Amino acid sequence: MLLENFLKCAEEVISLFEREGKEASLHSELVRLSSLIDPEEFDFFPSLKEYLEKFLSYFSPLDSLPRDRRMTRIENGHKMIDKLREIFLVRSEEEVMSLLGKPVAAATSIKYATSVGESRSKILKRMGIETAGDLVNYFPRDYEDRRTIVPISSIVVEEKVSIKGKLLNYSAKKVSGYTIISAVVSDGFGQILLKWFNQDYILQRLVKDRVYLIHGTAKKTPFGPLEMNSPEIEKIEGEVPREILPVYSLTSGISMKMMRKIMKRNLGVVKSLDELLPDFVRHERDLMSRRHAMISIHFPLSLFEMTRARKYLVYEEFFLFELAILYNRSRLRKSRGGIAKTITGELSKRLIARLPFELTGDQIKVFEEIREDMRSSNPMNRLLQGDVGSGKTMVAELAMVDNFEAGYQSALMVPTSVLAMQHFEKLSSDLEPLGIKVELLTGSLKKSEQDRIRLGLVMGEIDIVIGTHSLIQEGVDFENLGLIVVDEQHRFGVRQREALTTKGHLVDSLIMTATPIPRTLAMTAYGDLDVSTIITMPKGRNPVRTLLISRSRTRELYSFIMEELKMGHQIFFIYPLVEESEQIDLKNATDEAERLRSEIFPGVGVELLHGRMSDLEKQEVMGRFRSKESMILVSTTVVEVGIDVPSATVMVIEHPERFGLAQLHQLRGRVGRSSLKSYCIMVLNSGVSKEALDRLRDFSSTSDGFTVAELDLKLRGPGEFMGLRQHGLPQFSLGDIVRDSDLLTAAREDAAKLLRSDPDLQSSGALRLEIEKRFSDSINLIEVG
Ligand code: ADP
Ligand code: MG
Repeated sequence: MLLENFLKCAEEVISLFEREGKEASLHSELVRLSSLIDPEEFDFFPSLKEYLEKFLSYFSPLDSLPRDRRMTRIENGHKMIDKLREIFLVRSEEEVMSLLGKPVAAATSIKYATSVGESRSKILKRMGIETAGDLVNYFPRDYEDRRTIVPISSIVVEEKVSIKGKLLNYSAKKVSGYTIISAVVSDGFGQILLKWFNQDYILQRLVKDRVYLIHGTAKKTPFGPLEMNSPEIEKIEGEVPREILPVYSLTSGISMKMMRKIMKRNLGVVKSLDELLPDFVRHERDLMSRRHAMISIHFPLSLFEMTRARKYLVYEEFFLFELAILYNRSRLRKSRGGIAKTITGELSKRLIARLPFELTGDQIKVFEEIREDMRSSNPMNRLLQGDVGSGKTMVAELAMVDNFEAGYQSALMVPTSVLAMQHFEKLSSDLEPLGIKVELLTGSLKKSEQDRIRLGLVMGEIDIVIGTHSLIQEGVDFENLGLIVVDEQHRFGVRQREALTTKGHLVDSLIMTATPIPRTLAMTAYGDLDVSTIITMPKGRNPVRTLLISRSRTRELYSFIMEELKMGHQIFFIYPLVEESEQIDLKNATDEAERLRSEIFPGVGVELLHGRMSDLEKQEVMGRFRSKESMILVSTTVVEVGIDVPSATVMVIEHPERFGLAQLHQLRGRVGRSSLKSYCIMVLNSGVSKEALDRLRDFSSTSDGFTVAELDLKLRGPGEFMGLRQHGLPQFSLGDIVRDSDLLTAAREDAAKLLRSDPDLQSSGALRLEIEKRFSDSINLIEVG
């Protein structure tokens, strides 16, 4: 085995023996393992023998040592392995640089790059490669490890391998329009069948009795020998060099071999690249140099070196992005300024005194943060996140009161008209007594009514307007808009939020989310926002008990609901309706409502609510539910966001497997909004996949929104998580914000640190140029205010 693999095994063995308390036999096991290292490795690494002996001897007297000294040895053993990797598996920077030819300017047109020329440049351009700089930034999608050539007889199926063998015979035939090429290769001990479909050019390469190097994944066939489909094949003369080769995504007209050659010949570009990361960062994060990484990502000495190169590049990508956002934000603040509002807090104090509850500590803290932002001469750009039911709306209401006191109008934008109506009812009853004029503007109002409200806004007669997307339409103007609040922001795109801010001058923005945003996303999609978080829930809340039951237990479920109804508690039944036009599901909810009303719960008032109803109908249905004229609400996901009916205690979800976890959490948040014990019951049909079931089990075992959000992000990926709407997520070429979240967090911290010591990036000219070059087009998209 390769040294690299030996080190990996040794590491695992040390950990395993440590866990199992078998340190005493560690030495003999490591010696046994080391005897499996290929003899060629000792030729390749002349000093390996010496280092290896030292390493092994370190474990020899382990059984005679007291326990604590044994543990130290083991700890140091891990460190020695790291050290051996650094010594043998990573080249020095000088060594790597010496491999390169003369420097090439990154801006050189690809046409003039070595070994390219007119016709190949056209093909490369199709791959998005315009310059020599683009070329070296075209990273491999995989690697071909030629360091070991496996005998055909010891191939492990379903694993990528390199083999060497003589071509015994081959044939090509046409089957219903497809060309199938088959070839048999032998290395003297074993044979393997190679097959290519519709790759006619392979035929030209095949010559009987010639020796080839073959790379691919073997599989078993029911009858004959092992078989490889579409392997890479290349004739060889003499020794195969010990190397790891890059595998690139290609388009037709260029071979892998040619692409590798072009890359290798032009790597000199790397010499002309500036180091971008400040020294303190590279040192602290243990990163190789940019040049070293750029070379090793294409032609690594070992897979370990490749991993180190990848780490550098991912980090660099994240760092530049975070730096761009933070730099841009501070510059904007400086240049634009904001309105420093005068807020005494008298009015909001009066509102607080009239509330039937006390604000939670977090609500007070967050309200203070917002007030400070509004008083400051920078525009507020704040994301307020808190789990469903944590009382964000209350905080927003207070902020709008402050804003009114300072003499400005506020706009509250929400995703659905049902939610708009709910907020309108709450806010007007709270605020009209304080002399604040609140109005509702939705698309379903009569034209004359809309006109009246628009006029009131321009004239400054309306202080707070609540609405849906209708607020960002043309023709809605304000006298002096000072604060915008966007509730359930994940339902809106960046541009929509932006559109609302442009209705005023230097407005403060408060963006609220009840789908807690995992830190990694907060740092990318919302990188330029300040974040406030409400963690504590209002007093007396019990976590919602979440249950998964099978359909066969609906009888029990109904009698349980009957008990709850007797106590005056209310019930939601939710049916999935992903798209409002999905006829079948709509019918489901309708039929179910009918069945529950006439057969199961006669006389308690069962009503149906769905997205296709007019706003007026929805308002009436919600009104009757709120006033307990009806006790059961059968609904689609219309109630998903924001609906607040404190005496609802049971949420029944049908077909829960069809919802995302964040969505389920939102639904669950519709109950448990008072001190009453509440339940979320998911009814499972048979035939739900195992993955779906596991996912639902994970969901029911946690009531914490952040945990749910992280889970959801892992399962669905950032794009889906953010919703299909324009999500404003940056595209990273190597980095994955979920998998590499630690690097992202580190990059964010480091970027902030750099800007604290050097706000104008004066000492980092190359860095500033680079972020301007990379982000000048996209950064305004990310920006909100
Ligand atoms: P969110 O928007 O964060 O999901 P809401 O603002 O709708 O939550 O609040 C949920 C419920 O809790 C509402 O009925 C609200 O009146 C109530 N509430 C808000 N703050 C408090 C508090 N400090 N104590 C008790 N109840 C509160
Ligand atoms: Mg809310």
